[in-house]
Amino acid sequence: MFEGVLIRAYGGFYYVKKGDEIWQCTLRGKFRLGKGSAALVGDRVRVTPVRGTTGRIDEVLPRKTELFRPPVANIDQAVIVFAVQDPEPNLALLDRFLVLAENANVSPVVCLNKADLLSGRREHEWLRLYRKIGYPTVITSTKSSEGIDELRQLLVGKTSVFAGPSGVGKSSLLNAVQPGLELKTGEISSKLKRGKHTTRHVELLPLAAGGLVVDSPGFSSLDLPEMEKEDLGYYFPEFASFTPECKFKGCLHRHEPQCAVKRAVEQGLIHQDRYKHYLNFLEEVMQQERRY
Ligand code: GDP
Ligand code: ZN
Repeated sequence: MFEGVLIRAYGGFYYVKKGDEIWQCTLRGKFRLGKGSAALVGDRVRVTPVRGTTGRIDEVLPRKTELFRPPVANIDQAVIVFAVQDPEPNLALLDRFLVLAENANVSPVVCLNKADLLSGRREHEWLRLYRKIGYPTVITSTKSSEGIDELRQLLVGKTSVFAGPSGVGKSSLLNAVQPGLELKTGEISSKLKRGKHTTRHVELLPLAAGGLVVDSPGFSSLDLPEMEKEDLGYYFPEFASFTPECKFKGCLHRHEPQCAVKRAVEQGLIHQDRYKHYLNFLEEVMQQERRY
């Protein structure tokens, strides 16, 4: 019996990576059905060898994290990609991705791609903001190769998913990180549109330097997860040093008097766009609450 990672399920077989070997396995019946116990790509599994490099998955080990779209277990990190331009970055969407990632217990990395299109200015102001808040950031270009080594380093030894709007260069980045992957670029948006109506096979791609990446973008559902409205503030880490000064316990930083977060926004210590997105998300979370 050995332990490995389920990286692909296809044609009734389950492919398990053990070091550099890929084992073709069957799955014991009880893991196939039922939401709780079904095996997911990304699961750590125990395999009983049968013959050669074929085996049987006898046990699915407990998960650290679980994403639903795409359905992958044990993702460590989400590389959230935006482009300098083409398309213009949408910071409300970035903040949404950050909430989704952290809520799923997945560490975010903010990646600014198409750095070759940065004219003159060496860095975008918004990227500096996210770095200051404490998010890991990386600036890349698949045209000039800037930042590609750094990005490759960030993926070593982890299971990562790339997220971000279509056209920002996610597939190009994966191809640049590991030449030979040969993911289709450019056409991905039409592929994804079709994908909504068909079941996509999700697959984990092993990287030469060690580590795995999901072959399709994450967080295709952009609805905020169900949460208590009081918890949303935790996903805005720069609020943390002010919230203890709010007059009311459980302050939602909205209309409450003597709110330290609002004061910090007025003083320019918290960026007003981040605060605006927080208020929009709060509205959404409260509407969800009303629905259930
Ligand atoms: P995806 O939809 O996020 O997977 O994006 P793709 O990888 O398919 O890339 C979308 C388009 O952006 C393609 O035409 C790429 O050639 C282009 N692209 C990708 N990376 C860069 C980059 O670093 N700089 C520039 N200028 N274009 C890029
Ligand atoms: Zn407050």
